[in-house]
Amino acid sequence: MAQAERSAANEDLAQIRESVRALCAKFPGEYWRALDRERAYPTEFVAALTQAGFLAALIPEEYGGSGLSMTAAAAIMEEIQASGCNGAACHAQMYTMGTLLRHGSAAQKARWLPAIASGELRLQAFGVTEPTSGSDTLNLRTTAVREGDHYVINGQKIWTSRAEHSDLLLLLARTTPREAVTRRSDGLSVFLVDMRLAQGTGISISPIRTMMNHATTELFFDDLRVPAENLIGEEGQGFRYILSGMNAERILIAAECIGDAKWFIAKATGYAKERIVFGRPIGQNQGVQFPIARAYAQMRAAELMVGAAAALYEAGRECGAEANMAKLLAADASWAAADMCLQTHGGFGFAEEFDVERKFRETRLYQTAPISTNLILSYLAEHVLGLPRSY
Ligand SMILES: Cc1cc2nc3c(=O)[nH]c(=O)nc-3n(C[C@H](O)[C@H](O)[C@H](O)COP(=O)(O)OP(=O)(O)OC[C@H]3O[C@@H](n4cnc5c(N)ncnc54)[C@H](O)[C@@H]3O)c2cc1C
Repeated sequence: MAQAERSAANEDLAQIRESVRALCAKFPGEYWRALDRERAYPTEFVAALTQAGFLAALIPEEYGGSGLSMTAAAAIMEEIQASGCNGAACHAQMYTMGTLLRHGSAAQKARWLPAIASGELRLQAFGVTEPTSGSDTLNLRTTAVREGDHYVINGQKIWTSRAEHSDLLLLLARTTPREAVTRRSDGLSVFLVDMRLAQGTGISISPIRTMMNHATTELFFDDLRVPAENLIGEEGQGFRYILSGMNAERILIAAECIGDAKWFIAKATGYAKERIVFGRPIGQNQGVQFPIARAYAQMRAAELMVGAAAALYEAGRECGAEANMAKLLAADASWAAADMCLQTHGGFGFAEEFDVERKFRETRLYQTAPISTNLILSYLAEHVLGLPRSY
């Protein structure tokens, strides 16, 4: 069994969780609030996670990573969120390299993975979404045309998060026109773009201000020249390579949502015990208790699905349905817990200093990204239940 797929049985999950919690304790609410106000990047937090090796959890030991299981990686992301921190600043460093690991050549892996594992190189930007095609990935318009030993890239991406804080970009672009392919999923290719070399010579990055602090951007490619050796795998097969990485992304983000839900539930429970109105703790009223209890039950159910998806993933088994359901259920659980927590806090939930409104904004994203809820439902309807294809 590959290192990255090792069974969780060999790992001390409790110890991993405790180490993550200890690290996160150094980055309390004040730290995140200050960044949120300025829409600034949590550089020190990301550096601390990198130094501790947490972001290299899924990179095999032979490339300098920790070679942990998906269960352990999910536990890391969950603990970050449950501590009130925001793993979205760097979660992609953990899983974007999966495309390179699974489909890259031996030479590409030897060249890039050790530096990604040490954090010397950041591969945490992932350029798939485009403004015109949106969820319809196969309709994307960015092109890569082969010219000698280079590909020339033209087009635009949107919502490429962390591009300003990444050295490398995993880019999906069209190498064969849609009309010229027989299978509609053919004709797209994946490139590892070294943005350090490309800035000012064919790539420009424009930040997008969003409702939460997410360092997301728009990218414009104007005759960007990428060495042909940076093509991952076979030309024209890129969509499959990207899809194969999506299960890992879904599971890890689902784990983050579980962490968020745990944070909201703990925060609401604590407040409901302390806040005295009408001469008794508000948590003594069943009207306040029941939404907290319901959020807890919903979170626990989603947590089981995240565990099931991670176990299938690390056993090397098909887990598309479970990974998608984990993401759907966990994102719903975190959003329900967020709403409950805000309501439990009354007016104070809206005050910045309680951190509830910040986490509320942050967790809302997962209804839409990295895949929106409707698209997951559509996947389940068509691929699991056999209902007719709708698009
Ligand atoms: C903060 C943020 C960070 C992001 N980071 C990245 C990133 O790093 N890299 C990247 O590539 N992308 C990223 N994304 C993009 C994200 O994956 C997309 O926003 C998401 O997949 C939805 O695509 P869209 O925004 O184009 O919505 P659209 O595709 O325009 O859809 C709009 C709405 O219509 C619904 N819809 C569309 N078609 C159907 C249908 N056939 N049936 C039912 N409902 C439908 C959708 O569910 C959605 O609710 C990010 C987005 C955000 C907001």
